[in-house]
Amino acid sequence: MNKKKKNNEQGNTQKTKKQKKWQDYFQWQEIRLQVSSMIYQKRTTFKFDCPDCSLELEVTHLMWSALECLHCKAEFEKEDVILK
Ligand SMILES: [Zn+2]
Repeated sequence: MNKKKKNNEQGNTQKTKKQKKWQDYFQWQEIRLQVSSMIYQKRTTFKFDCPDCSLELEVTHLMWSALECLHCKAEFEKEDVILK
């Protein structure tokens, strides 16, 4: 009786451990996918419309605080643009 009970408990524990392992595996796959898409994406660009002339502009990074529009030469700050 006692032995049987013990076996059942062990079985349950093993099942939970296995489920946990799968959970970890899927989480890891998800992270791996996110990272690889970040790395292998040839070029990340940020697109937005010029707040002044509404023409589309494209930048490769957002390490700037102000920018001059290529089309209308208007200066605007990063806070003024809405990324697409
Ligand atoms: Zn413009």
